[in-house]
Amino acid sequence: MSEAFLEELWRREEAFMVSAKPEFRHGLRFVGVSSIAGQFYCEFKVENEFALGELPSKAKAQGTALHDELVPEVEIGKDAFSALVRRKEPSFAVLRLWGSVAGLRIIGTPDHVIWSEGRPVWLVELKTTKGDPGLLWDDQVVQTRIYGLLLDLMGFNCSSLRLALVRLRGSELSEDDKGPWILRVSKALTDGTTSELESEYAGRMKFHLLVHDRAAAVASIGAKRGYWRGEREPTSSTSVAKCRACEYSQVCTKSLAAK
Ligand code: SF4
Repeated sequence: MSEAFLEELWRREEAFMVSAKPEFRHGLRFVGVSSIAGQFYCEFKVENEFALGELPSKAKAQGTALHDELVPEVEIGKDAFSALVRRKEPSFAVLRLWGSVAGLRIIGTPDHVIWSEGRPVWLVELKTTKGDPGLLWDDQVVQTRIYGLLLDLMGFNCSSLRLALVRLRGSELSEDDKGPWILRVSKALTDGTTSELESEYAGRMKFHLLVHDRAAAVASIGAKRGYWRGEREPTSSTSVAKCRACEYSQVCTKSLAAK
């Protein structure tokens, strides 16, 4: 990856941002990766988030705070980003991802990207849970895959890219574990020692390793684009369990949970 590539990338990003019009549902100029992923849980929940606003909850606030502790970030400039990601030894840097797919302008920022010699080699999403880290949910897989697709569409060399969805019972980590957590996850991925880290935290964390699959990511977006383009109304959950777990269950007109 050359300096010229990055200069051109920043120029293309600016053009992408300024040319966007509020053409999507809810007057959006861009559709968030997490919103598309959310459609795979319940599309009506995404609708509620825009129509009613996000409902604050103690559990959500605790989850966000924990996430920030586990994946701390420091803002750096474009020159520092360029120097960092072009090193041979693995380096860590995230950036806003963007691209047009299936008639949607999509943006989002992943949790963590590991780079080597200008190539993204691991894209990592961290999901904290109170349940079983071994379970894998469609919405989380879709989110991770779309981030990979956007990196690819932006023009980065993704020939070595792999995806890791790390699910973790974060509240069971000690304070000493939290600080170096993302470094340990990164080292396990680049050294190929994920099984060892899983054994050390048996029952508390799981690496779900995914292949970078452009076609699968494009198909996921294609399946949900009609909602954003105003071509159809939102679908709603057919699962009582999902409705019971949903923060909108008491106010949602489609809820299957008893009110
Ligand atoms: S209550 Fe059920 S139908 Fe309504 S938003 Fe939540 S999951 Fe979807």
